[in-house]
Amino acid sequence: MKDKSIWSDSVTKNKYRTLKENISCDVLIIGGGITGFSTAYFLQNTDKKIVLVDGYKICHGTTAKSTGKLTYLQEDLLEKIKNIYDEDTSLKYLSSQKEAIRLAKKIILENDLKCNLESVNSYIFTDSISGKKKIKNTYQIIKDNSNAKLKDSLPIKISCKKSLETNDTFVFNPVKFVYGIADVIKDRIEIYENTRVMNIEKKGDYLIAHTKNGNISAKKIVLACHYPFFLIPYFFPFKTSIEKSFLVASEIKQAKDFSAINVDKDVLSIRYYKDKKKYIILASESASLVNNVNDLQKRDEAIWKMRSKLSPDIKYAWSNHDIMTSDHMPFVGKIKDNLFMATGYNTWGMTNGILAGKIISDLLLERDNPYAKLFDPLRNEKNVPKIIGFNLENGYSFIDTKINRKRNFYRDDVKIVKEDGIYYGIYIDENKKEHKVFNKCPHMKCSLSFNYQTKTWDCPCHGSSFDIDGNVIFGPSTHDIKIKKTN
Ligand SMILES: Cc1cc2nc3c(=O)[nH]c(=O)nc-3n(C[C@H](O)[C@H](O)[C@H](O)COP(=O)(O)OP(=O)(O)OC[C@H]3O[C@@H](n4cnc5c(N)ncnc54)[C@H](O)[C@@H]3O)c2cc1C
Repeated sequence: MKDKSIWSDSVTKNKYRTLKENISCDVLIIGGGITGFSTAYFLQNTDKKIVLVDGYKICHGTTAKSTGKLTYLQEDLLEKIKNIYDEDTSLKYLSSQKEAIRLAKKIILENDLKCNLESVNSYIFTDSISGKKKIKNTYQIIKDNSNAKLKDSLPIKISCKKSLETNDTFVFNPVKFVYGIADVIKDRIEIYENTRVMNIEKKGDYLIAHTKNGNISAKKIVLACHYPFFLIPYFFPFKTSIEKSFLVASEIKQAKDFSAINVDKDVLSIRYYKDKKKYIILASESASLVNNVNDLQKRDEAIWKMRSKLSPDIKYAWSNHDIMTSDHMPFVGKIKDNLFMATGYNTWGMTNGILAGKIISDLLLERDNPYAKLFDPLRNEKNVPKIIGFNLENGYSFIDTKINRKRNFYRDDVKIVKEDGIYYGIYIDENKKEHKVFNKCPHMKCSLSFNYQTKTWDCPCHGSSFDIDGNVIFGPSTHDIKIKKTN
């Protein structure tokens, strides 16, 4: 079993340059996932100089770890949005997701991208009485605006009390999609890998993005980095929470033509993937990041459940996390005259990432976009109790990391030590070499937990991840946790 996503294993990665000098541009896009590349794609034919940078390799983040579904049947989100706002808002969100699917298909077909796009029926389903009500309510919202049909089963033998089926939805390989776009635009857009933006500073009419080996002066900046590391005074950490899930891909003989996700507390997401071999991909154990601190145990529980349900021959196992908003809709748009952001996809960033690219490019080109207002990051989200809940959760997770920093699941090869009042994390590798790092996330000072699956130090509050030598590999932190050697 490989400890990586099936998508990451499916492309030979191109190598893009690392920035080594100062440059300037009209638009700097920070982040090379589906959001960053969709934005770059929609801007490629303008006379603007566009630069896209990724702090690591392109498309190694959440996009590479998703289930790759392009669907508007997104659990019970439509009902939740209707309950917070009204039916019109919920229908507008539905229409935005349909538009995103149309755009995805258009990009793929016009550029002949080989990304295993496949038309499949998609389902939401339930095995509970409360779930039946959610399915029926979703049906009521979309029945006049889609060809969705109520059913009592799924095309697979699995306990199901009610389902909702639609047939104008797709699945694809998200990493091949992003690499395909990169290939299409690479002569018109400057792409840099291993170029992490540490901070952004305003100088006259320009924003200066500082990286290790060079600065980028940009007239406009798009934060497409999943978690916008540039936070204050917009308080995004206090308006969002993070959810993590575990995924597996198992080889099977016969792949089916559908994808599904339930609306129950114990989440189960299903899809198939046909390439040279055939796979079933499952995701489960969706929970707030703070409840997933003991990663190895959670992962094993999730794998055990999925194996016993549907998936005996596991070839890949990985995890992913996404940013949740209180009103279940993304934050996409302008936050200042020259600063744009896209995040908070509530685990539906394949559609929302592509749509964000379109919205932001329209805003940059001063064109109208019918969804810009809906996703405005400065909107007044109406779900105050949820925002309070997020903050209690965030506060708890911060305190928990401090109280429980020496978690009892550490084995002999991982230690937390305190020296002169400072906490360090130590990992001893297979060759008995000691790797010592600071045990505090530079982002918001949470203490870090060791993740045995990926051999990384992870932040249980906001999802930053560092390798055993302290190099940051996943934000929001922009800084390493290395100990500087003194002579
Ligand atoms: C279990 C699970 C399953 C999912 N399945 C689906 C699905 O089937 N369909 C769907 O629609 N959505 C799905 N999603 C949601 C989707 O995966 C995400 O919403 C989406 O991938 C986010 O894309 P992104 O481009 O914003 O972020 P990312 O793909 O994470 O890209 C951000 C990039 O920014 C870079 N970066 C970060 N900080 C910096 C910095 N300081 N400087 C430079 N670069 C930086 C990172 O290296 C990264 O490459 C799923 C989510 C989860 C958790």
